Amino acid sequence: MAEIQGLAAHAAGAQLLSFKYKVGELAPNDVEVKISHCGVCHSDVHLIDNDWGISKYPFIPGHEIVGTVTAVGSLVTDRKLGDRVGIGWQADSCGVCEWCRQGDEHLCAKARPTCVGRNGGYADAIRVNSRFAIPIPEVLESENVAPLLCGGITVYSPLRNHLARPSSRVGVIGIGGLGHLGIQFARAFGCEVTAFSTSKDKEAEARTLGAHQFVNTLDTGALKKVAGCYDLILSTVSADQDFQSFVNALRPKGTLVVLGASPSPLQINGFSLLSQQKAVAGSPTGSPRDLYEMLDVAARHNVKAITESFKMKDANEAVKRVKNNKVRYRAVLAN
Ligand code: NAP
Ligand code: ZN
Repeated sequence: MAEIQGLAAHAAGAQLLSFKYKVGELAPNDVEVKISHCGVCHSDVHLIDNDWGISKYPFIPGHEIVGTVTAVGSLVTDRKLGDRVGIGWQADSCGVCEWCRQGDEHLCAKARPTCVGRNGGYADAIRVNSRFAIPIPEVLESENVAPLLCGGITVYSPLRNHLARPSSRVGVIGIGGLGHLGIQFARAFGCEVTAFSTSKDKEAEARTLGAHQFVNTLDTGALKKVAGCYDLILSTVSADQDFQSFVNALRPKGTLVVLGASPSPLQINGFSLLSQQKAVAGSPTGSPRDLYEMLDVAARHNVKAITESFKMKDANEAVKRVKNNKVRYRAVLAN
């Protein structure tokens, strides 16, 4: 393929427009993937709008990609033509630093995000290092698995890293793309799960997905009622919120994990952390090793995204619905 065709943002907040870029000879460690599906993560919206100040225009968004390998570089031995693979937030890393060597490629200082400074998955094809094109278990359908490549791994990793287990009481704040997968994975870990949401119409579905409790965070006093209840709380909200109340909702030794990028600095009282040995942590997506494991768990525990399907050409409509918190629960573009 000499040219890749997609939809690109050309300026902060602008509509995505048709865009082509030329590709030369395939790099020795890369694979080329013909894209069938791509999820619309809220991070794409942040990038289109340059909320994080790191966007370089024009660029094609998209980092929840599923497709088929159509070409392999001369040094690639771990993928072959016809493999169905998934690509998430990361497209490459240095491969030799301390973090890459211990399997934490997502922490590599030279990690290359799939659609920052390069072009992502709202397109007909993409090229990435073969290590970041993860084979997908056969039982997982392409449309439902695409959102797991970023949204799924982002909620799976903190459950794994903070040792969620059947005795754990876990809260998930924000029942969107990440949150609806967080409920399902927390159940797969055997936890007791509470959904925290500003949308009361999500209660029935949150319970169907596995939530034991549903807390409408807009109800006065709702968070006071759950003070001291949780071992682990995952915040997937991209807006500012009352983080102190969620710290108060932790049990001793509990951890609040920040996954969503809220615009203002977090306001948390230090004393409320130290007295009961609580922690506030951040968590990025995950390494290729974590992606393999997460997909395997999804396949065996029937974790899948609830999706709204859009044609690739209708990406602008999908992005608008994500911005307006209208999507139930992940928009997925299909070629
Ligand atoms: P999403 O589908 O839009 O879901 C976010 C949810 O947050 C919404 O469904 C809504 O849930 C809640 N929410 C929205 N506006 C709110 C407000 N003003 N106040 C309180 N709650 C609000 O987004 P997503 O794709 O899940 O991504 C969520 C965040 O995670 C984004 O900031 C994204 O950039 C970030 N992210 C981080 C990583 C990472 O590596 N850590 C990876 C992927 C995404 P309710 O209707 O239930 O309230
Ligand atoms: Zn994402």
